[in-house]
Amino acid sequence: MKFCPKCENLLQYHNGNLYCKFCDRYWHQYNDELKLTLNQTLNQKDIKLLEKEEKIEKVSETTNFKTLTYRNFFPYEEYRQHQEKIIKDIELASQERKNTLLVAPNGTGKTIVALSAFLPIAINKNLKIIYLCRTHAQNSRVIKELTKISNYLESTNPNLKVNGLSIRGRNEMCLNKTLVSLKLNPNESMAVCTDLRKNRNCSYFLNLLKKKGQNDNPINIAPDLLNKPVDAGELIKYCEEKKLCPYFLSKYLLSEMRLIICNYQWIFHPFIRENFLAFIEKELDDCILVLDECHNIIDMATDINSDSISPYSLRICLRDLELYRSPILMQSFIKILLNHLEKKKKQLNIEEKEIDAENFLFQVYTRLGLSDLNSFKNFIKELHEFSVSIHDERIANGEISRDYIGALAEFWLKWIRCYTLENYFFCYTSREIKGKNAIFLEIVALDPREVVIPVLKSCYTSLHLSGTVNPYVYNNLMGLQETGKKFKGIVADSPFKKENIKAIITDGVNTRNENRTALTYKKMLSKINEVIASTPANIGIFCASYTILKDLIANGLTTIAINNNKQLFIEEQGLSASENASLINEFKSMALAPNNGAILLGVCGGRNSEGEDYPGPYMNAVIIAGFPYHLPTPRVEAKINYYDKVFNKQGWNFAYLYPAVQRANQASGRPIRKLKDKGVIIFMDSRFKQKYKWISEWIRNELEIAQDRNGALSKMLSNFW
Ligand code: SF4
Repeated sequence: MKFCPKCENLLQYHNGNLYCKFCDRYWHQYNDELKLTLNQTLNQKDIKLLEKEEKIEKVSETTNFKTLTYRNFFPYEEYRQHQEKIIKDIELASQERKNTLLVAPNGTGKTIVALSAFLPIAINKNLKIIYLCRTHAQNSRVIKELTKISNYLESTNPNLKVNGLSIRGRNEMCLNKTLVSLKLNPNESMAVCTDLRKNRNCSYFLNLLKKKGQNDNPINIAPDLLNKPVDAGELIKYCEEKKLCPYFLSKYLLSEMRLIICNYQWIFHPFIRENFLAFIEKELDDCILVLDECHNIIDMATDINSDSISPYSLRICLRDLELYRSPILMQSFIKILLNHLEKKKKQLNIEEKEIDAENFLFQVYTRLGLSDLNSFKNFIKELHEFSVSIHDERIANGEISRDYIGALAEFWLKWIRCYTLENYFFCYTSREIKGKNAIFLEIVALDPREVVIPVLKSCYTSLHLSGTVNPYVYNNLMGLQETGKKFKGIVADSPFKKENIKAIITDGVNTRNENRTALTYKKMLSKINEVIASTPANIGIFCASYTILKDLIANGLTTIAINNNKQLFIEEQGLSASENASLINEFKSMALAPNNGAILLGVCGGRNSEGEDYPGPYMNAVIIAGFPYHLPTPRVEAKINYYDKVFNKQGWNFAYLYPAVQRANQASGRPIRKLKDKGVIIFMDSRFKQKYKWISEWIRNELEIAQDRNGALSKMLSNFW
């Protein structure tokens, strides 16, 4: 009698092999040992699964880490309020493979909570933790916490090592001057980088291959980077010294890393994800996902699924088609589109205009002389094939190639796929780019679930972190209940002392469009003056829009700043990331003696009102100037109508009100980042009174109303500092 080595039940003979009906596995006997039989009834997935289980067992046996809990990793002497309970809840939820949403203000220590809860299960089951963030500052924060854990383990459990790496996109890591100087978008950079490598024209990449060695082992390149948490900035410096490509070095190291910190796109963009998983040598169901600042995922997911073309890209397509003597019909196609868009650009006096997608498609192919949609589809496929042949020829000639024609073909294939779907919207958009008016033809995805659900369904477990998200709205928009996994929601109490927060809604100001008169701005500026005069160091003013920002300046904000002896810093549209970073650094430096503090004027939803921290004196007070509703453009209206249908008449709440309050909630939390921070939060628009229930709970609990009287704010703030 033989027993199954896995479940120890009795094996039976079936098709000439020993078969376990409990595990649904076949075995054969070899030197007295039972081995898996690789016959046709055992598919590749089963084999992989078994190998995975054996690998896990091996790891666990040799290291005896099966009994690890969060306590082995939590590096601080004390837990903050409710912190241990939250960790336990997440640990349990992850064992049950749930999707967990943790809504907790900054100061709860969300990063350490996530790492302590997930490291034991990741090590036990040989999983990877993929920590998804929006900004480099957030990435570095995760590495900092992991370094604390790593140092703690060195003294408490030296056998236990944790490593991790934060990675960035190609454009932010590349050292090749040719590629950097081209300032391309990520897709174009990928194409150029591929060409440079194929043509052996990138010395950084060639050096890397040399170092990797003949046995193709990444450990040969940088063994010193494998035993500790490493930030992308540190890796780039290392590569600058050794003349290696940081982007590919980071990719080669990924398979060795327990924790990987990256942007959302690495997991949610289907094409990027495929490459990423190949590099980390894992399937998605071997990955624990942590989605930091998860409220950003909603827009990110629809952006990923949208597409656009412009006269600029069409002109490049036409040039390439002429150069490579394409069939005339292909050139005519581009000319028709170009003429049409140029004509529309002159006619369009609004930012956005909806297109009847079916009729537009009909117009395009009949003008091309094609009889039906099928012929047009075949024509687009031929266009795509032609783009591949151009690309191949260029590579063979050692040229750098940007594939605009391929992108155009994909745009039209998407149009054909989606024009009848109600979760897509089609439009012309007019935008200012580098001071010039530009027109785009756009396919806009309306439903984030299309991108999100497949990811959440496949991953091992996921944790969604935010300080401001509304659980009900988020749950619906992300389709958390539709992923096949159970949902666990945790809303943490505020860790801040009541006496450290002053939250006020000002009465008497309403920045609705028709109210934006000189009188309104005079009143607003008088109230802003009271806040500035009562604040010891720095202040942030985040406006509902750039229009309000400009109006505040036009109505005298600069004079108020001068009179209060505080320098005014203005966030301008179109600033590069590094220009903006130096603006913020200078603003922060003004908070420290002998300076008297400064004012940062920005917008809600901008990069300085989200994702940037201003602890301590870097921002003592924040003013939300106006209710940050988006302009009711046709795409917003389309979203409202679509959400009305799929979310039980919640269109206006989900597509219009919620994003506005979310922007206000994000901006209002900027000054309160650490437990000891003390800050003033002013909502300067009386409409916040009606919508106060949507304000983040930790702020809502402290809300007061300032009467519409001169000096009312000064009085309320006088005792606070
Ligand atoms: S291989 Fe690396 S350094 Fe070279 S172009 Fe590509 S990303 Fe840049």
